Parts: sequence; C-alpha cells; structure tokens
Amino acid sequence: MGLNAPNSKYFCLYCECESNIRWDMNLKWPINKNTQSKKKPKLFPVIKQKNYIPDELHLLLCISDVLMECFFNDLFKKKEFEWVIKSQIEQTMKSIQVHFEFFKSQGEKWDWTSLMGPDKKKVLQHFPVTNFISGRRGEDIQKLWRNFYDLYMFIRQTDLKDSEIDDFEIKVKEWIYLFCRPNQEKNLSLRFFSASSIEKKNHNQVQLFFGGTTMGGGIKGKSVVQDIMEFENRQLFYLLNNTSQEIQIRNINVEDKENNN
Ligand SMILES: [Zn+2]
Repeated sequence: MGLNAPNSKYFCLYCECESNIRWDMNLKWPINKNTQSKKKPKLFPVIKQKNYIPDELHLLLCISDVLMECFFNDLFKKKEFEWVIKSQIEQTMKSIQVHFEFFKSQGEKWDWTSLMGPDKKKVLQHFPVTNFISGRRGEDIQKLWRNFYDLYMFIRQTDLKDSEIDDFEIKVKEWIYLFCRPNQEKNLSLRFFSASSIEKKNHNQVQLFFGGTTMGGGIKGKSVVQDIMEFENRQLFYLLNNTSQEIQIRNINVEDKENNN
C-alpha cells in the first residue's frame, strides 16, 4: 500500500500516528493521510486508499490466539493441569462442537490444536472461562472473550452509522483497559502483541490456504512459495484463456426472444 513495514515509525495507512506513542489512547489522530511515510511507491495505484478494507479475519485469528494463550498459560501453572484440567478443557470444547487437544511439543512445552476462524468464534462466544478460573480474574477474562467477539461482529456489519462508530471506539478503549488490568496484576503487558503475531498471521494464512500446516516445508517436499505460485499461475491461466472455474447455470426463457439471440 505504499507504506513502510507495520513496525516502522509511521506505520498507519490513515493517520500520522507514531509507533512510540501509539500506546497513548488519549491522543487523537485525525484520519486523513500519512504524509510522514512516503518511502515506498504504492503497489496498486489503481486502488483508491478508501477502498482498502481492514483484514478482519486476521484480526480475529491474531487476537483470539493471544486471548487463548493468556488463558492457557494461567492454567499450565496449576499442578493438576495434566491430570484434571487438560481433559476438562478438551471435554468442554467438545460440548461446544470444537475439536481441541493439548499435546506436548519440543522441550516438554504444552501446545494445542490451532483453531480455524469458525471454531475460534465458537470458543470466544461460548467457552465458560469462569469454570476454570475463579473470582474476578475469571470473570474479566470471560468478558474479554465475549466482548471481543461482539466487537468483531460489529466491524463485519455492512452498514454503520457515525454514532455507532463513535460508540465502537469507546467500547474498543474499554476492552483494551480491561485487557491490561488482569495482566498488570501479573506483571505482564501489551508486549503480547509483538511482531510475532504477524508471523503467526502468516502461518495462519498459509494454514488456511492449504488446509494444513506447512511448517518444515510441507508434506510434498515442495516449497510453500512454489505451491502458492503454481496456484496463482493456474488462476492466471484460467483468466487469460477464459476457462470457466465454476458451472454456470443459465435459464433460457423461450418467451423472451430478444435475449436468446
Ligand atoms: Zn492511524
């Protein structure tokens, strides 16, 4: 989009927010243009800036990953995790129709099934966090999951009034304050949202694209890049040679002679 990397000083597509002061939610950034960052030419000059849309799928994937990671890290600390809690979580996931398992990865660290978008939505919406973490902390975490789901559903709406967008801004700020609160107690911070979530995003993207992980080069022994390029090549071939990619059903109306010539 003609901007610098997401971790550069002036990263934003719409405003001149600086990376080192973006944490300050009291500052206002008028939405206009980022004139500070003109280093790279636009990749697609034909597409107007206002026609770019935020990638809500990856917003969902990244933030729900962080939420689940925070929650599980709390549970891993408990002595009874391996013998009791682990299977309770797996059963609870099953009860909301999500296939989910914990397993041990390298270095005896716990890992878990990487969920796709639709399953993540179910978890955010229905998983009873308070059954596993008691008191205020459990309630806060559950609220974060539910409220994030609501915020996500809001941005997916097609028609939004200005007043609704203002209300959304307030709710997002409240959500961030709530996210920071349980973490401050445990001496954690927003560093959870580091560049590693972008790597995770890319991983998820590849995973979505191929329906499976390609870590370690994939199963066919071909590089992922080659797979993607072959796929895109085929798409281009279809486009150039007018090959139909789906079955087209045409209704021929005998009465309507004008359109049948
Ligand atoms: Zn901005």
